[in-house]
Amino acid sequence: MDNCIFCKIAAGQIPATIVHEDEDLIAFNDIHPAAPVHMLIIPRKHFDTLSAVGAEHGELLGRMLALASRLAEKAGCAPVLQPDGKLTGGYKTLVNTGPDGGQEVYHLHMHVIGGPKPWR
Ligand code: ADP
Repeated sequence: MDNCIFCKIAAGQIPATIVHEDEDLIAFNDIHPAAPVHMLIIPRKHFDTLSAVGAEHGELLGRMLALASRLAEKAGCAPVLQPDGKLTGGYKTLVNTGPDGGQEVYHLHMHVIGGPKPWR
């Protein structure tokens, strides 16, 4: 898509702090982080929204979630069971979809948000 900012990041045409890159997916830090860790995972292939993704792309969506888990772990956000039995850490995965879903950038992306609280 000619005017898509995330397609331009995927093509290396505008800068971003890339934290993962493979044949199908790219992840980079959000430019306005909502928490100490805030990454975005996008497919290289352009989909306007989650609603534009068909069942044939289920594997791609699964890989986005699996990557979210891996990147959150790398960033130190994975949930950890402490010796006292308390669970700490953790992160959110979020796909805003359409105007009522709060989507601002119309290239499918998954937010991975975490780090020490407080953040919303
Ligand atoms: P919202 O802004 O409500 O979270 P989206 O779910 O569409 O809407 O998220 C778009 C995200 O893309 C925002 O968190 C925004 O900070 C981020 N963003 C926009 N432009 C860039 C950019 N050039 N590099 C990195 N992140 C960006």
